[in-house]
Amino acid sequence: MTERFQAMKSLLDAGRYFKLVCGAGNENREEVRKLALVYTLGGANGFDVSASPDIVRGCVEGIEQAYGMTEKMGRDIPIRPFITVSVGMAGDHHVRKAFIVDSCVDCGKCIPVCPTDAIPADYRIIRELCIGCGNCEAVCPPKVAAVRYEHNGKLLADLLPECLAAGAENIELHAAVPGDDDILAEWKVVCEAQPNNFVSMCLDRFHLSNLHLIQRIKAAWEIAGERTLIQADGVPMSGGSDDFNTTLQAIAIADVIQKNLKDKEKAYRDLPILLSGGTNGKTGEMSRLCGVPYQGVSIGTHARKIVKGMISLPDFDNDHAAIKAAVEVAEDLVTRNLAT
Ligand code: SF4
Ligand code: SF4
Repeated sequence: MTERFQAMKSLLDAGRYFKLVCGAGNENREEVRKLALVYTLGGANGFDVSASPDIVRGCVEGIEQAYGMTEKMGRDIPIRPFITVSVGMAGDHHVRKAFIVDSCVDCGKCIPVCPTDAIPADYRIIRELCIGCGNCEAVCPPKVAAVRYEHNGKLLADLLPECLAAGAENIELHAAVPGDDDILAEWKVVCEAQPNNFVSMCLDRFHLSNLHLIQRIKAAWEIAGERTLIQADGVPMSGGSDDFNTTLQAIAIADVIQKNLKDKEKAYRDLPILLSGGTNGKTGEMSRLCGVPYQGVSIGTHARKIVKGMISLPDFDNDHAAIKAAVEVAEDLVTRNLAT
């Protein structure tokens, strides 16, 4: 395997992989660039972005900017961060885009709950900003039900090589839907597109029993072998609050995999697990309290939220104090969530 595979494996083996999730559906290039800048300086060694070559390039740009600021910021970047592109099966939350239909009664409830400010006053959702979280649907009155979704469908075999050429090194398949055959067919495409580094399957328990979850992980392993990384998604995109309850299901699904697979079968003992789906500032502490080991953590909503005010400042790129403040906030989150 390649040097970069070994470098990532070392991070995972040591429980020191921290992936900042920019959002599988987040096509706001400027936001991704700024997040990459801030979190690279804050110690993150992974970024998860939309499967778009332009967004990957935005992330690379942020990482390069971070390298250019190490001296000024008094930081070191020991390992160049790995960029993952996220793709998904039709129906998976991470790769859908919301839109609002004519039955909308203009109650306004959906506007303040959108974490990315994607819903303007005319309710024409800004597609590039929508991350498919479903918050708007949850508050829309049931009798109205004006929120619908379209699948952000992309031809993986064509798209993935372009993303890798743009600077991505890892691919993640969001597979939180029923139907093993379709998922494994897409997984094969993913594995063939990147034969030299980790490929990740993101799974949750909405459609899968514990038994089915384990079976699907084994099927993924049969195809990708030691390159398999499992993202254990507690409750997808639910990490808005910074409390123990929010992160509970991320720990629970990792515990299910640990007890029902890793502890039982020697072949899977070293399978790396990334905590996600409700991860926040309490995730590392909660896992230690519960005695649930993990090899990495993947944080999206909460990690973006805590730096949003700073990176949204109009002259952020030239505001040394704002960059420094954002890096300190990011570093605190990263440090608290590394397993060792
Ligand atoms: S609330 Fe979530 S699903 Fe709805 S528009 Fe905003 S990002 Fe998209
Ligand atoms: S919550 Fe539903 S009905 Fe109310 S404004 Fe939003 S889409 Fe329209």
